[in-house]
Amino acid sequence: MTPDAERPLCVPCPGCKRLVDRNASECPGCNYQPPAGRAEELLGSLVTVGSILIGFTLASLVQIAASDTRNDDLVQIATGFWIVSSVLFMGVVTAAEALRRRDHDRERFLTTHEDGDVLWGRCESLLTAFAVALLLAALGVIVLGFFFSTIHGVIGVIAAILTFVLLVRVLRV
Ligand SMILES: [Zn+2]
Repeated sequence: MTPDAERPLCVPCPGCKRLVDRNASECPGCNYQPPAGRAEELLGSLVTVGSILIGFTLASLVQIAASDTRNDDLVQIATGFWIVSSVLFMGVVTAAEALRRRDHDRERFLTTHEDGDVLWGRCESLLTAFAVALLLAALGVIVLGFFFSTIHGVIGVIAAILTFVLLVRVLRV
């Protein structure tokens, strides 16, 4: 008998004790998500949002490369921010997709807390890199605002401050 055949296909959900498929990403009864399920969802979001942002930064860089204003100091600074952020986004998207696929067949309801913690630790590293890339992309946008006019730049700074306040309010535990 293979080791797999000895193991039950369904295991009790830690949330409601109902029997759940051990490969399920969440319990259909109480919506409890094992750590592995939550991590996969986060990785999926990172890949989707990261891909969109790579498109944005690359399109901006191509546009700048073809424009006459590319030698302006402020445009140069914005370009620097976007080069770093787009490369960082590519790294995050690649790593997140690799991590998601590698563990695709995991028995999510059987992952131990230690495994879940390791996976979450990796997700947090990727999330931090993603946040840094996002910050750099935003800095590039603000610098480009100053290229247009001081008013555009100031509006950008105010919007950034408001966004920061919003983030702190929303994410406060
Ligand atoms: Zn449940």
